[in-house]
Amino acid sequence: MSHDLVIASGSVVDGTGGPATRADVAIDGDRITAVTAPGQAGAARRTIDADGAVVTPGVVDVHAHYDGQATWDSLMAPSSWHGVTTVVMGNCGVGFAPVRPSDHDALIELMEGVEDIPGTALHEGLAWDWESFPEYLDALDRRPRDIDVAAQVPHGALRLYVMGERGSRRDAATVDEIAAMGRLAAEAVRAGALGFTTSRTRNHRTSTGDWTPTLTAAAEELAGIACAIGETGAGVLEVVSDFADEDAELGTVLGMAEASGRPLSISIVQHSARPQAWRRLLEAITDANLRGLDVTAQVAARPVGVLLGLRTTLSPLGASLTARGVGADLEALRRDEVREAVLAEMAERPSLFPWDQVFCLDDPPDYEPAPESSVAALAERLGVTAPGFVYDRLVAGDGDALFYVPFLNYVDGDLEAVREMLSHPHAVLGLADGGAHVGTICDGSFPSTMLTHWVRDRTRGERLSLEHVVAMQTSRTARMVGLADRGVIAPGYRADVNVIDLEHLTVRAPTVSFDLPAGGRRLLQRADGYLHTFVAGTETYIAGEHTGALPGRLVRGPQLAPQGALA
Ligand SMILES: [Zn+2]
Repeated sequence: MSHDLVIASGSVVDGTGGPATRADVAIDGDRITAVTAPGQAGAARRTIDADGAVVTPGVVDVHAHYDGQATWDSLMAPSSWHGVTTVVMGNCGVGFAPVRPSDHDALIELMEGVEDIPGTALHEGLAWDWESFPEYLDALDRRPRDIDVAAQVPHGALRLYVMGERGSRRDAATVDEIAAMGRLAAEAVRAGALGFTTSRTRNHRTSTGDWTPTLTAAAEELAGIACAIGETGAGVLEVVSDFADEDAELGTVLGMAEASGRPLSISIVQHSARPQAWRRLLEAITDANLRGLDVTAQVAARPVGVLLGLRTTLSPLGASLTARGVGADLEALRRDEVREAVLAEMAERPSLFPWDQVFCLDDPPDYEPAPESSVAALAERLGVTAPGFVYDRLVAGDGDALFYVPFLNYVDGDLEAVREMLSHPHAVLGLADGGAHVGTICDGSFPSTMLTHWVRDRTRGERLSLEHVVAMQTSRTARMVGLADRGVIAPGYRADVNVIDLEHLTVRAPTVSFDLPAGGRRLLQRADGYLHTFVAGTETYIAGEHTGALPGRLVRGPQLAPQGALA
């Protein structure tokens, strides 16, 4: 009897955090069936020589926003270009179900504002052949994809569905309304939603400038919904919050885990307004776990940064009316009189971002740029003004030059805070936000940055071990959301596998594409060095190119670990 596939002699990093070992990995059907010493796996219909390469579980990305894209596109790019084989969406309280037909526009405005996905693309792309969350899951189920997707029920949509106008106005929910939201959330979880998510950050607004409906939801409302989910015996909870009033907010957020007994994850980033708050929040998470709660921090791989270019949402030329008039018309921008007019307008008003916090984004990008490489520092060395430097760089090439403004996790001008977050025992990789912020941020590449920057390239401080980094984005994320059948290379687990040329793995610069529905714009980003990616035993990507295979499905609800699994 021969195996379907043997990935031979690779350095296997199994996702558990245990040491890399040279081994053969045998795959039959959609499962890993054996992990043996090199040369011992037996015959196979196909053998991949992985000598010199690293073999890891596929990435389980627990924080994405493909809620719209997953209904109209079979490729979950850019995440699926970065070794991701399962993506969990519906985060941060936004999504598209449940929904009344009269509320389609409201949910689009919410998604457009909060996650910067063009409303025109959503209007054209969303078929809206659902109303309830279970119907939305059925719609997702009808489309095969390159990777698995799992959905969560978003508080924003629930609030609008149950409370109507009052929900978006952020009125307090009545006892009956809380019960109704709880019933619908539990119904969603029973139908296969992985969990429930909510947003309590002032960074999130609708496209018409209103706060999100969930911003100020009361502790009773959150605990009530969580409690109803708890009664199903399944489901996880996800919260993003500013934690402006730390103690009170911690009480409210942890109250959801207390009321329901369900696992909770919280986004943790470093804000410039309160640069040490993340540390206190991580301590609170440690304490909560000591008290018996299951609470995890979702942390980022690098700064969360805004990209500025001629074709992104925000232009480095700021509010200059002349610049806006000519847009990305390079010929016009190269005319002296236009250049002079734009620079004169820029000199008149404060720039959108301080120039010492703006960096050139090269290919490959440096996501931990040193202060001496800021636009301000570079311009000074060249004896030119910062706006002049930026302008000339923008028009020099074919107009796709980008600048990078790290605005979270970069208060200290380096990633030491992020290293501490990534080293925390209750932290997993999160916040990649694939499918969202498509005109300003491109962080779907986080899993690749984990492998390149943190394992191999970092020079401005300590690095992290390959085994730790892989565990943080495979088995630990999988288990956090209840998908215990994946994220580990061991017999019985799903054959979601990456074969990576780690030595040459390279994150490429983001590029702007106009390939969303209605020609909508989005930032995309590729990586070189993923030799093979398998989803459920089927090869989906070879050297970054899609094979055409679509083995990915909707994952409904928690999945059990294989029998006798050690991990
Ligand atoms: Zn999010």
